Amino acid sequence: TSFWSNVQKGPEDPILGVSIAFNKDTSPSKINLGVGAYRDENGKPYVLECVKKADKKIFEAGVDHEYAPIVGLASFNSLSVALALGEDCKAIKDKKIAVIQTLSGTGALRVAAEFLARFYPGKTAYVPNPTWGNHNTIFADSGVAVKSYAYYNPQNCGLNFDGMYNDINAAPNGSIILLHACAHNPTGVDPSIAQWKKISQLCKDKQHFVLFDFAYQGFASGSPEKDAEPVRLFVADGHQIGLCQSFAKNFGLYGQRIGAFSLITGTPEEALAVESQLKILVRPMYSNPPIFGARVVSTILSNKELTEQWRTEVKGMADRIIGMRESLVKYLKQHGSTKDWSHITNQIGMFCYTGLTPEQVDRLASEFHIYLTRNGRISIAGINSKNVEYLAKAIHAVTK
Ligand code: PMP
Repeated sequence: TSFWSNVQKGPEDPILGVSIAFNKDTSPSKINLGVGAYRDENGKPYVLECVKKADKKIFEAGVDHEYAPIVGLASFNSLSVALALGEDCKAIKDKKIAVIQTLSGTGALRVAAEFLARFYPGKTAYVPNPTWGNHNTIFADSGVAVKSYAYYNPQNCGLNFDGMYNDINAAPNGSIILLHACAHNPTGVDPSIAQWKKISQLCKDKQHFVLFDFAYQGFASGSPEKDAEPVRLFVADGHQIGLCQSFAKNFGLYGQRIGAFSLITGTPEEALAVESQLKILVRPMYSNPPIFGARVVSTILSNKELTEQWRTEVKGMADRIIGMRESLVKYLKQHGSTKDWSHITNQIGMFCYTGLTPEQVDRLASEFHIYLTRNGRISIAGINSKNVEYLAKAIHAVTK
């Protein structure tokens, strides 16, 4: 007998299932709208020019491959926080922020959850309903209880602000509130700035700990500053936020696993103490983070020209996505759909909650070779000018 005969096969990731079905399909008109990674006009992965230039600089500098410190590359850490909070952020100047390089956004969330489990015990984390599926499992696996707050309103494919507000208000004082800073995944629905202000005030009144998941800075609106507005607003309001950054989408560095976790503390001494405890948490998990992605981001953000190029390129990705949303709605109308599709253009970021039912999703796959998750979420990155009209016709066919 084997040691592992009692191990049962677990369920496949639902998003992976979409790609498996897509790969099996031999139709030339097939479309994969499940992928969570940016694709260019030709449906291909996109390597940013600024990243290629940074690669070259790093290579030419003849760097070694020694270990990074446990907290990661110092230059990356400070550039990363400055990108999110702004260079003139008072908490940065006052040295009140503990930062640690992480294994992309997932790693940042995991380190955050492990830290909260150890130093903010017995609290429940509230995540939006729905949210990126990994949020629930990251907290649960770290020993932090998870509940959800209302978020999405299926009636208008928009925000259920009252529900969100009431649920955050009903959570016990001092709870952990996870907020998507921009381009909410999976819905593409973000609060307005006026609504963010109300949420900030509410979290203040309730003494909640706010943890921002910031996986799409610049990728949503095309402006890194505009996308950072909610986070900066909370910091300006005096919240000691936790911040999880990912450079997967906005720098196209998915597989390099580059991200950061920061925590705003009360004093420079507190920041050092928190940093020391983050190191103690990280050491037995993975010792220290991978170095290449940190070097790439650091090379770009410490060089004016490369930073400008990055801004242009991240705006290019965001604009292509915004353009595809408009194009999809245009073709839906052109082919006779009289439904209200305004949510497609109102939502933001890579993902769109179309409002399609599971049955309509099944028909898109079986009749039109179009693949997406059964919750009706489409990745706009999978759309391009060659397939958008075909997609619109198919969506119209299954929704009329
Ligand atoms: N948070 C959200 C909301 C995401 O959509 C993603 C990417 N799918 C992540 C975090 C983290 O991704 P990564 O670990 O690749 O940075």
